[in-house]
Amino acid sequence: MRAVKGKNTSIERRLFSMLAGRGISGWRRHVRELPGNPDVVFHSNHLVIFVDGCFWHGCPTCKRKLPKTNRAYWKNKITRNVEIARVASAELKKDGWVVVRIWEHQLRDANGLKTIGDRIEKLIDAGVI
Ligand SMILES: [Zn+2]
Repeated sequence: MRAVKGKNTSIERRLFSMLAGRGISGWRRHVRELPGNPDVVFHSNHLVIFVDGCFWHGCPTCKRKLPKTNRAYWKNKITRNVEIARVASAELKKDGWVVVRIWEHQLRDANGLKTIGDRIEKLIDAGVI
């Protein structure tokens, strides 16, 4: 899924710097040994975070338009991405991970970032296992 989830895209960096800015520690980025290569992993809390690209995962809020050419290809690719993400989430949950999926668009504005930061802090404070 490398082509789908570019490493260290600017949108991901917003998430990383938000976590760092709040003094949230104990996480690693892009952990390949877990299903779906989560973007952020809190090992001791058994918490993983994925950032789903609005185009690549067919975000229902943004409804990003498909390219004019090869529409069937793109549609199929997005459907597959969603399915792969669903399977990865299910596998992780089965193994006792708490899975948080964030839409790319939620990281684009300060309010969205704050909401996500609050949610993650709450999960960590709750000592999710
Ligand atoms: Zn979106």
